[in-house]
Amino acid sequence: MLSKTLQKAFNEQIDKEFYSAHLYLSMAAYSESMNLPGFAHWMKQQQKEEVGHGMKFYKYVNERGGRVELGALAKPPADFASPTALFEQVLNHERSVTASINKLYEKAVKEKDYASQVMLHWFIDEQVEEEASASEILQTLKMAGDKGQSLLMLDRQLARRGSE
Ligand code: MG
Repeated sequence: MLSKTLQKAFNEQIDKEFYSAHLYLSMAAYSESMNLPGFAHWMKQQQKEEVGHGMKFYKYVNERGGRVELGALAKPPADFASPTALFEQVLNHERSVTASINKLYEKAVKEKDYASQVMLHWFIDEQVEEEASASEILQTLKMAGDKGQSLLMLDRQLARRGSE
């Protein structure tokens, strides 16, 4: 059974994952408004992934005899200064999620909850991937610029993202 401390921390993480989904859907909407269908597709794939993360934690809390309790979702930003600023926010957001997963892991270590530590390994690996893909796209935007032909090429590339 999950300790009360860990149950609370896992519930907070569920909210963070669903907020991430909410944020990426807002980023998709911004991308649609900028006529960037490839960016919008990438964000919508990301949104689905985040719902999956939230549900992974939801399932885990239940499996461990805990009680899932959802909180309120904050309003995500609707506007971004540019495609580069958009991906700067993606990277910053993923870094904050990594920090939050790491804190959760520290709590599981402190409580000597080995099952939670093993469960969190998947998320620790996942965050390495999340930061790497956001960082790669951001570097492309910074190097090639976020206007004209180079932006269109990147939009076409992002349109090819499959579901992971
Ligand atoms: Mg996530």
